[in-house]
Amino acid sequence: MAAPLTDQEKRRQISLRGIPDLENVHELIKGFNRHLHFTLVKDRNIATPRDYYFALAHAVRDHLVGRWIRTQQFYYEADPKRVYYLSLEFYMGRTLQNTMVNLGVQNTCDEAMYQLGLDIEELEEIEEDAGLGNGGLGRLAACFLDSMATLGLAAYGYGIRYEYGIFNQKIRDGWQVEEADDWLRHGNPWEKARPEYMLPVHFYGRVEETKDGSRWVDTQVVLAMPYDTPIPGYKNNTVNTMRLWSARAPNDFNLRDFNVGDYIQAVLDRNLAENISRVLYPNDNFFEGKELRLKQEYFVVAATLQDIIRRFKTTKKGTPGRTSFESFPDKVAIQLNDTHPAMAIPELMRIFVDIEKLDWDVAWDLTRRTFAYTNHTVLPEALERWPVRLMETLLPRHLQIIYQINQKHLDKIACLFPDDMDKLRQMSLIEEDGEKRVNMAHLCIVGSHAVNGVAQIHSNIIKTQVFRNFSDLEPDKFQNKTNGITPRRWLLVCNTGLVDIIAEAIGEDFVTDLSELRKLNDFVDDKHFIQNIMKVKQENKLKFGQYLEREYHVKINPSSIFDVHVKRIHEYKRQVLNCLHIIHLYNKIRMNPAAPFTPRTVIIGGKAAPGYHMAKVIIKLITSVADVVNHDPLVGDKLKVIFLENYRVSLAEKVIPATDLSEQISTAGTEASGTGNMKFMLNGALTIGTMDGANVEMAEEAGEENMFIFGMRVEEVQELDEKGYDAMTYYEKIPELKQVMDQITSGFFSPKNPNMFKDLTNMLFKHDRFKVFADFEDYMKCQERVSKLFQDPVEWTKMVVRNIAATGKFSSDRTIAEYAREIWGVEPSNIKISPPCEPLRVDHLTT
Ligand SMILES: *Cc1c(COP(=O)(O)O)cnc(C)c1O
Repeated sequence: MAAPLTDQEKRRQISLRGIPDLENVHELIKGFNRHLHFTLVKDRNIATPRDYYFALAHAVRDHLVGRWIRTQQFYYEADPKRVYYLSLEFYMGRTLQNTMVNLGVQNTCDEAMYQLGLDIEELEEIEEDAGLGNGGLGRLAACFLDSMATLGLAAYGYGIRYEYGIFNQKIRDGWQVEEADDWLRHGNPWEKARPEYMLPVHFYGRVEETKDGSRWVDTQVVLAMPYDTPIPGYKNNTVNTMRLWSARAPNDFNLRDFNVGDYIQAVLDRNLAENISRVLYPNDNFFEGKELRLKQEYFVVAATLQDIIRRFKTTKKGTPGRTSFESFPDKVAIQLNDTHPAMAIPELMRIFVDIEKLDWDVAWDLTRRTFAYTNHTVLPEALERWPVRLMETLLPRHLQIIYQINQKHLDKIACLFPDDMDKLRQMSLIEEDGEKRVNMAHLCIVGSHAVNGVAQIHSNIIKTQVFRNFSDLEPDKFQNKTNGITPRRWLLVCNTGLVDIIAEAIGEDFVTDLSELRKLNDFVDDKHFIQNIMKVKQENKLKFGQYLEREYHVKINPSSIFDVHVKRIHEYKRQVLNCLHIIHLYNKIRMNPAAPFTPRTVIIGGKAAPGYHMAKVIIKLITSVADVVNHDPLVGDKLKVIFLENYRVSLAEKVIPATDLSEQISTAGTEASGTGNMKFMLNGALTIGTMDGANVEMAEEAGEENMFIFGMRVEEVQELDEKGYDAMTYYEKIPELKQVMDQITSGFFSPKNPNMFKDLTNMLFKHDRFKVFADFEDYMKCQERVSKLFQDPVEWTKMVVRNIAATGKFSSDRTIAEYAREIWGVEPSNIKISPPCEPLRVDHLTT
């Protein structure tokens, strides 16, 4: 019997269907060898796998360069309207494989590495994730960049080049421990520093009133150094730019004023300025009002707006003398990813009024027509409300401008609602109860021409509840743009096996038009196709199982349900609900070990914000339950619980294709959209979920009968809120729940410290904002339906196919096309970039 194929050989078998051009392979090998020699200064006797990764990365990068220059040259010449996506986070993950796929040279590279005797998957694993994001919001920005390039928009991503991205999570004794993410240690082959375009950013100082307006003086300057990363579209020769700013101290930093004479100290103090871009704040859906964070937010805004205005001025042809800004909103659209870059609004006003000397009302009209704001959450603890005293010190002129915006805004409200002080208080940009604060969401709403939520249910909530007063005033300003994910990374890159059988069935147009997947409905009764889908899932599960065994020495049952719950750890995402159910399953097995049981492997992963005590206790509960369950001989391989360490983009790409069941169980009304849910659906998992976020639209697309929907709807949650939620009634009414809670409380999972989980149990009983107990019973019953259906693999897989066929809506290409037409005023796919002179022939997915 022949030896089983290695992963590399399997991938090569698939990639050989789109036969690589031998000349391309030769060309690639030449580039690889050249970089190994000249860039890495190594020969093959002493080169390490990391050297080979870098040689390949550089060889692939070479094929971006011509397209990148040509795209930017084209934008300069044609001067289309530019779209600027401003975000404090870009959660990019790895770049090599994505670049090969988008350039259409993956097969070429696979074959080239094979011929060199190198395992390309091993090399890809060496790349560090660019973890410049926390979770969904940052990953959305990354998916959007891919879609904007693929749709040929003249778009730019602007953010911060954090020296340390999201921390690496280690689990020690069942608890989360954070390690610094030194992702740039070995260098970053994908970025190009542009020190020649460095720009000054001012902080502190004071405002001087002169006869021709206000001047911000006596400031401290920090320099912003741009680093550019190419963003290739999918096989369209477009390469856009993501520009990330890094903080640099000016060379005279601290050498002019008070530190005169202490040269050494002055040089050491350069760190103070450069700390601005040192580290990503690791909070997800939580506002921490730290001065350094406000500095970061203004830093990216100030540098970016200078860049935008410079570009506006230089590409405007034939306008000598003073620039006219009349056409600014026709040439520039700026999208604010949450309120994090909200200071862009007063900053643009400052530039227009103080520097360009425009009349206030003219400036305000231009500003509002330029900006649009995306809201990402309704959780009150996540809304940015900066203390006025902080802003007054750091950005005194901006605070004045915000007050002036507010004055005019409130004057209008007072006209419309005379004597309605409540209205004024509710709609003010300045909150006056307790410490004075600037409400950044209100600033964004007032300063933008469009405000959007990220799924239909969430947009309805912000329109009718959270920002009700504002939408009553300007109903047309409020929109919905349901989130999406890029099918390139979340299917082509991560699930080659599935792509292969889909392309065989319906061709490859689905890559840029995901609604093509509808055609898979014709294959639901095709036995051969169903078998193929089952086979791919099984292979993905085996491969992930091998990964767990290799990296963590845990063995899992590959025929069990892979039940996966990966996302940031947060009370509203209700990892606790999942955990209580696991304990219930464990009790069920122990009560009757001989009864039939559908084997499950429950995989939970995610990072807790380092300062979020309850989230860290939730991790400890999961790992403690895992300890007991996984070592109980009565359980055997019926039930396994894995806490998946250090969940991040590259790990998502491994676990999602191996998943049977996707857990999306937030309390209805709390998850704005979710995008993890979409990745699972696209990769052939079924969803157990509440009617929350984009789950609602997934059910609409696939049919509720093709998902495992449970729990309270958002109206029921609100009714219960009004009535008063009492956890105890559920505890007393549901015996399974009572048993589970009694076990946790009595120290069954923490015998050495029975009080270990008392903060958690106290929360669940006394002040659970997310009503875990209220959905427990329905969740349990729904999970029984899951177990039952899994017994029938063909029926299960048919449901999987109906789900995949219904994912078309959740492509970020669709999302971006809607932003383009309905917010930015640009037409997608209008710009076509011709190929460079020396193109490699593009691979096809099928022959
Ligand atoms: C998609 C993604 C998320 C968002 O997941 P949700 O389930 O929508 O919260 C978070 N982290 C990573 C690494 C992701 O890829």
